[in-house]
Amino acid sequence: MTDTLAPCASAPRGKDPAIERRVAIVTGASRGIGKAIALRLARDGRHVVAVARNAEALAEVVSAITAAGGSAEARSCDLADAASYAQLVEEVASAHGRLDILVNNAGITRDGLILRMSDDDFDTVLSVNLRSCFAGCRAASRHMLRGKWGRIVNLGSVSGISGNAGQANYAAAKAGVIGLTKTIAQELGSKGITANVIAPGFISTDMTDALPQMVKDKAIEHIPVRRFGTPDDIASACAYISSDEAGYLTGHVLVVDGGMTM
Ligand code: NAP
Repeated sequence: MTDTLAPCASAPRGKDPAIERRVAIVTGASRGIGKAIALRLARDGRHVVAVARNAEALAEVVSAITAAGGSAEARSCDLADAASYAQLVEEVASAHGRLDILVNNAGITRDGLILRMSDDDFDTVLSVNLRSCFAGCRAASRHMLRGKWGRIVNLGSVSGISGNAGQANYAAAKAGVIGLTKTIAQELGSKGITANVIAPGFISTDMTDALPQMVKDKAIEHIPVRRFGTPDDIASACAYISSDEAGYLTGHVLVVDGGMTM
């Protein structure tokens, strides 16, 4: 046994330019969790491509990153159109000559009990939350294979693990994200590419602000940490999963929920 302070093989390599130049696409980066992830990855030295529909909000995120000395660009895209998103991934990869990190974070809810859920509510949620995730992963994989390195981080939800009354569409999409990610992990693991899911519990964003206060208070009673998570709680998990140090972590579903579903 040793307790010396000699650097270990997996220690961060700090100033290695190949690592510092890494290009990361983050969807849903205009606000909430995606914005926190974009800011954090930029702080860690990645070039961040911030994707969402709201161009103005994206420009503000990019300004915040560059003002802090980071590197970023904005790309508007509606993820309901999976082909446009795949095209965006291609454009980013060819403009930079590489694509290292893909964070499929954008997501929507259209809640309702199954008896009242329309086909459109189901299809729209599946298309933004799952189909675009598939299209982005497929497009990114090709470029990651070329670079022999890649980190795919897909945002799931505890609803995709346990189900959740009123969220048949959302839970189905998020369960699909888990199956998709585990499959990618199996197919690409030997090529230096990892694929993992972060499954948040309740995180304070526009998505949960829409909940009635009574529902929020009741939820907190079931959270051992006794608070909703912050977008930064998820961003720090994403920073680790997308780092060099996480090369042996793949096909994992990292639940970040303050202990709610343990
Ligand atoms: P949010 O605050 O509602 O933000 C959603 C983000 O997705 C925004 O940046 C939005 O940007 C983008 N987006 C939505 N529809 C889009 C579309 N069609 N095309 C492109 N971008 C689109 O959500 P959040 O709470 O940060 O959630 C982020 C992720 O975490 C989601 O996948 C969500 O399911 C998951 N999650 C959240 C919680 C929670 O408690 N908050 C819990 C579990 C899982 P624009 O409106 O500018 O397009």
